Amino acid sequence: MCGIIGVYDVPEASKYVTLGMHTLQHRGQEGAGILSKCSHSDSIHSHKGYGSVASIFGNEQIMNQSLPGEMSIGHVRYSTTGGTGEKNIQPLFCDLDFGQFAVAHNGNLTNAKEIRQNLIEMGSIFQTTTDTENISHIIAHTEKSKTPVNRLIETLKKIKGAFSIISFVNNSMIIARDPNGFRPLCFGKFNNGYAVASEPCALEMIGSTDIRDVEPGEVIVLNDSEILSISADEIGWKTKHKFCIFEYIYFSRPDSVINNKLVYQVRKNIGQQLAIESAIDCDMIVPVPDSGVPVALGYAQHTAIPFEMGITRSHYKGRTFIQPEQKIRNLGVKLKHSPMSLMKNKSVTLVDDSIVRGTTSKKIIQMVRDAGAKEVHLRIGSPPTVGPCYYGIDTPHRKELLASDHSVEEIRKYIGADTLDYLSIDGLYKSVENGKCSGYCDACFTLDYI
Ligand code: AMP
Repeated sequence: MCGIIGVYDVPEASKYVTLGMHTLQHRGQEGAGILSKCSHSDSIHSHKGYGSVASIFGNEQIMNQSLPGEMSIGHVRYSTTGGTGEKNIQPLFCDLDFGQFAVAHNGNLTNAKEIRQNLIEMGSIFQTTTDTENISHIIAHTEKSKTPVNRLIETLKKIKGAFSIISFVNNSMIIARDPNGFRPLCFGKFNNGYAVASEPCALEMIGSTDIRDVEPGEVIVLNDSEILSISADEIGWKTKHKFCIFEYIYFSRPDSVINNKLVYQVRKNIGQQLAIESAIDCDMIVPVPDSGVPVALGYAQHTAIPFEMGITRSHYKGRTFIQPEQKIRNLGVKLKHSPMSLMKNKSVTLVDDSIVRGTTSKKIIQMVRDAGAKEVHLRIGSPPTVGPCYYGIDTPHRKELLASDHSVEEIRKYIGADTLDYLSIDGLYKSVENGKCSGYCDACFTLDYI
C-alpha cells in the first residue's frame, strides 16, 4: 500500500507536498520520495530515501531549497509487488522523446508481469522491479504523433488492476484513477492552483478547498491555464465501482471522508454492528490501539459496558504489519503495545479491526493474560480474511492468511482467546453502506475477485 500527493501551480509546491506526506505516513513507512519542477524549466529535482517522511525530509527540503518549483509530487511506499530496494522508491521519472515524464502510483497492476516480459523482449531495460515502471516504458512505445496526454491515456488503457496515479508530463500534471476506483484519490483547489492526494486528510491539512473524490476512470489534466476533466466514458472505459472495503476497515485515516463517508463513523458503525451480532458480557471493552479504537467505541456504546484504554500504544514505533519481515513483526508487537494492570482479575473483550496472520492477536492476548485478566474475548470488526489482495494491500500469499485454511474455532485456539467472533459480511455492508452490497471490492473476505 502506498500514499501519493501532488501540488500544481503553487509557489514552493514541495513544501506542501512534504507536509501532506506526514498525513499520509500511515499508508507506507518503508520509504518516501518527492519530485519537484519549475514550470518552463527542463530539470526535475528529486529527493528520496528509506524510512519515515520525518527522517528523509529535513529543513532543507521543507525550506524548499533542494526541491524548488511550482509543481511537485510525493509518494510514501510500502512495497506490495516488486519488493523492497531503494531503486523502487517512487516517484519514478525519466526523459522520453517528448520531454520529462514522472509518475507516483498507488495500487497494483494485475497484468504487470506479462507487460514487463513483452517489453523486455522488445528491448526495454528496466531500472526497478516495480509494476509502476511499466507505465514509463509503455508510454515510451506509444505513437509519437499523438500528444503526450493522449499517449498517457493510451498507456493507462493497456494496464489493468488498481491505479491511482499522479504524473508529470513536461509542465502538465495528469491525475488518473482506474475505472474500478480500487484505491482512493481526491482532488481540490489550493491557493491559485490545485492539490491531489490519496486521502482528503492530507489535502485538508495543507488548506486545500472544494475537495472531491476523483471519479473511477476519470483523468484530470492540469496545465498552465486550464483544468480538463476527461470522463471514463470519453476514454472508452466501462466503469464498475470496486472501492476497496478494507480502506474503511483499516487502511485509511479515520478523519478522511471517502465517498462522502467519514471513515471514523464507518468504524464506529462496524463496532455497533459487531456488538449486535456477538456481544458477550464482560467487565470492560478494550481496543487494540490504534486501529481498533473507533470499532471498540461503537461496540462499547452499544453494549453500555465500560470502555477502557487498557493497552498503551507507543507512537514512536511504526505500524507493526508494515514491517515486511515476520521476525521483525513479532518483536514489533511487543515494542508497540503494553497492557495495563487495570485489567487484573477482569473479564475483558478486546476489539480489533482484523486478523491477518494472527501475530498481533496472539501476542496481545498473551500480554493481557500476563497482566492478570481472568477472561479474554476477542471481537473483530471485519469478516475472516481468507484471500490475498491483488490490488495493492499487502496480503499476497494465501497460506499466510490464518483464516484461509482454519475455522474460527481453530483460530480461537491458536490465538488463545476464550471466545472469538468476527463481523459478518452482511454486517459489514450494513455498517458501510446501509446494507447495499455493490460498489466495493471485498475479495479478501469473499474470494469474489473481479
Ligand atoms: P496480523 O498480526 O498479521 O494478524 O495483523 C493484524 C493487524 O495488522 C491488525 O490488527 C490490523 O490492525 C493490521 N493490518 C491488517 N491488515 C493489514 C494490512 N493489509 N496492512 C497493514 N496492516 C494490516
